[in-house]
Amino acid sequence: MPLMQSWVASANAPETDFPLNNLPYGVYDLGDELLFCGVAIGDRILNLTRLEEEGLLDLETGQFFGWGTWSVFMEAGQDAWDELRAWLMVMLREGSEAETALSKFLDAQADATMHLPFDIMEYTDFYASKHHASNVGTMFRGPENALPPNWLSIPIGYNGRASSVVVSGTDVVRPNGQLKGPNDDLPRFGPCARWDFELEMGAIVGKPSDGMISVGEADDNIFGYVLLNDWSARDIQAWEYQPLGPFQAKATATSISPWIVTKAALEPFRTSTPERERPLLPYLKEPGPMLYDIDLEVTLAPESKAETVITRTNYREMYYSAAQQLAHHTTSGCPMNVGDLLGSGTISGPDKGARGALLELAWGGKEPVTLDTGETRSFIEDGDTVTLRGHAQGDGYRVGFGACTGKTLAAPTIPDWAKE
Ligand code: CA
Repeated sequence: MPLMQSWVASANAPETDFPLNNLPYGVYDLGDELLFCGVAIGDRILNLTRLEEEGLLDLETGQFFGWGTWSVFMEAGQDAWDELRAWLMVMLREGSEAETALSKFLDAQADATMHLPFDIMEYTDFYASKHHASNVGTMFRGPENALPPNWLSIPIGYNGRASSVVVSGTDVVRPNGQLKGPNDDLPRFGPCARWDFELEMGAIVGKPSDGMISVGEADDNIFGYVLLNDWSARDIQAWEYQPLGPFQAKATATSISPWIVTKAALEPFRTSTPERERPLLPYLKEPGPMLYDIDLEVTLAPESKAETVITRTNYREMYYSAAQQLAHHTTSGCPMNVGDLLGSGTISGPDKGARGALLELAWGGKEPVTLDTGETRSFIEDGDTVTLRGHAQGDGYRVGFGACTGKTLAAPTIPDWAKE
């Protein structure tokens, strides 16, 4: 599919994340209390809240944009999703008669402060990149036990915290926690010293389910995708994770990019999960390609310094798709709600420069990463900003996600009553 030309000139640049082919959904303010629902187009945002108020956006499926969240629209289902996208395509295409009327409702992205685009109901995180699982397993358990025995059969996951999901641009405070090094006799309480990011994609549930659903149904139920950084405290994790998995190590924060890229926009970029070493159980079999070809990168910038690209990989490296993960999630009978967020798991490729976390890039601190500034990093330091970016590359255009960025601030002072 070629670039679809828009009368918004900046949307036709080959390097923009937001051409007419994309049309991602976000929530923003312009410096006061009012929250708007908008669609990114080039370097602008079409203000749907104001368009709806003025009667210029009158969808047959209903009114959705007066609540400062996309959740109301997501709840409306497939007919509303299709109607809005079709309306936007007609209104924003080059030569549209709506240009004069709509151009008054374009806001500059540079003037906007982004908010969480939907109400995050619950958050589940998975562990679905074979390269990542093999690397981490090799470090923790040795190469002969790199993959847990269940890994090739189950999309492994844990229930995370929706309360600490934050939008890109939100500062993240390094956690304190219970730590015990391999040579310590007893644990102590103090600031995490092995603070890390995880490069992931987040899938957003847009249709509810109650009971077990197939992979095909699960794919239908996904509304769209965001970039997701599952901030991780490796030293807290190493001590707490057996036998129930990560808990406080993952509870501090999860950052997501502000624009929901819809499944409709990603349709041309579908690709298949890899060949299986072990046959999947029938309930996990995919009726078609359920992954997407999305180039991903992560940069790290020390305080007030330039950023360095520290990894480049692709979402197609995953072993399990979000649809498989969602289908697996429902096997227990667990109801899934509109606004549930599913983290893909850290996305690592086969090469050293394609690893999706500092733990792997610096191999547990043994091989620190050298930045363009000359500094090295084994883990994130206070003042560092980590930024995820991603886009699917079309023929002369991109379907991009914008940035998912977060700066790490120093850990809180430990109160006297928590000291030894
Ligand atoms: Ca994770």
